[in-house]
Amino acid sequence: MSEEDDIFPTGLSVEQARARIVAAVQARNMPAEPVEVSMAVGRILAQDAHATRDIPGFANSAMDGFALRGMDLPTTGEKSFRLVGEVFAGGSIAMPVVADACVRITTGAPLPPGADTVVVKENTRIEGGRIAIAAGTKPGENVRPAGEDFRCGELALARGARLTPARLGVLASLGVARVAVARRPRVVLLTTGDELTAPGEPLGFGQIHDSNRFSLGALLESLGAQLFRHERVRDDPAALRDALQRAAADADLVVSSGGVSAGEADFLPRLVADIGKVHFWKVRIKPGMPFLFGQVGGALLFALPGNPVSGFATCVTLVKPALDAMRGVAEAPTQLHARLRSAIDKRHARVEFQRARLEGDAQGVLWALPHARQGSGMLRGVAEADALIALPEGAHEFAVGDIVQVLPLPGWPA
Ligand code: AMP
Ligand code: MG
Repeated sequence: MSEEDDIFPTGLSVEQARARIVAAVQARNMPAEPVEVSMAVGRILAQDAHATRDIPGFANSAMDGFALRGMDLPTTGEKSFRLVGEVFAGGSIAMPVVADACVRITTGAPLPPGADTVVVKENTRIEGGRIAIAAGTKPGENVRPAGEDFRCGELALARGARLTPARLGVLASLGVARVAVARRPRVVLLTTGDELTAPGEPLGFGQIHDSNRFSLGALLESLGAQLFRHERVRDDPAALRDALQRAAADADLVVSSGGVSAGEADFLPRLVADIGKVHFWKVRIKPGMPFLFGQVGGALLFALPGNPVSGFATCVTLVKPALDAMRGVAEAPTQLHARLRSAIDKRHARVEFQRARLEGDAQGVLWALPHARQGSGMLRGVAEADALIALPEGAHEFAVGDIVQVLPLPGWPA
C-alpha cells in the first residue's frame, strides 16, 4: 500500500483519531426504545424525565416518635402531652393535633393535620396515658416536607443521563415503570488469526486460546454495546471478506481484532480499502498503533490490533467515545489525575497508556502505581490494573510525583 497516504490519513494523534470517530458517528444516533425500569441499569436516558408530582407527595415523619405542634414544645425541662392517637406509614389517617396533644407516629407516616414537628422517641417518656416530652427539639424538626426531594414539574433526570442504580430509584419514585432509552449499538466481534482456538478446545502446535473474544466482548458490553454475534475468522482474504460483509449487514459497529498490522498475514487494511472505506489507519498511540477506523457497507469498522492489551487499550480510548456519542451520553467522563508512584522513562514520542493500580493516601492524594508488566501481549497487566495512565505525546521522562491523567477501567473500584 505504497500510496496509502493519498487514500487515507495515517499516523493521527489520539485526539485527531477520536475527533474523526466522533464526527463519523454524529449521524448515527441510536433510536429510543422502551424498557422496564428494572432492566434499564447502565442504559442512557433518551428523554428528559420530569417530576409529575412532589416527591415526597406529602409531609411525613423522618423518625419514629410523636407528632405535635412546634409552638407547644417546652423550652426547658419536660412537658406532659395528651396522646390522642397514632399513625403508621402507609396506614391510617390521623386525627388533627390540637394544643398540648400529640400523636404517635412512625417514619414515613403522613404528618397529622395541625402537627409540624416530630419529637424522637428517645426524648420522650410514657407516663400513664400521657407522654412527657423533654426540651431540645426545635419546631419543624424531623419532618420531611412535601417536594423536598423533587418539586412537581422539576427536571429530575436529563436526556443523556446514564442510568445508575440510584437513578432507577429516582424514576421509580416518580412512578415511572417503563423508560425510553437509547438502543444499544449492535456490535459484531470478529477475532482473526490462524493461531486462535476456542477455550475448551485442545491447542495444536503454535496455537493459543482466543482470549480477545472474551475480554473485548465483555468490555464492549460493559461500555454499552450489545454483543450481537462473535465469529472467529482465519487469516484468509476470502474468509475475511465474507465475514466482514456478513458482519456489516447485521451490525451498527464491527469490531475486529488482529490482522491489521503490516505483517504477511495482515489482510485487513487492503481488504477494507477494496470492499469499503478506510477513514484512517495507524494512530500515534502505544499500545495499539495499527488501529484502523473504516466502514464496510452501512457499518463502522474498528479494527483493533490482535495483541490483547492493544485491543483493550484502543477499545477504551477509541471505541468507547463512539459508543457514548451514538447513545447520546450527555455527561462527560470524570477527568481524573494521579501522581506517579514510580518514575517512567518513555523512549518514544507516542502517547502511551500504561497499566496501573490506583491508591489514595490519607493526605487525599491519588497515586498511580505503574504495573511491572507493560508488554502489549501481557493481559495480566490489565487484569491486575485499575486504570490506564496516559503519558502524553512527546515527553520522555516522568519523575515520581509527576501528575498524569488516568482512565479508570470499567469495574473500578473493584
Ligand atoms: P496480530 O495483530 O494479528 O498481528 O496479532 C498480534 C498478537 O496478538 C499475536 O501474538 C497474536 O497471536 C495475538 N492475538 C491475536 N488475536 C488474538 C486473540 N483473539 N486472543 C489472544 N491473542 C491474540
Ligand atoms: Mg494475526
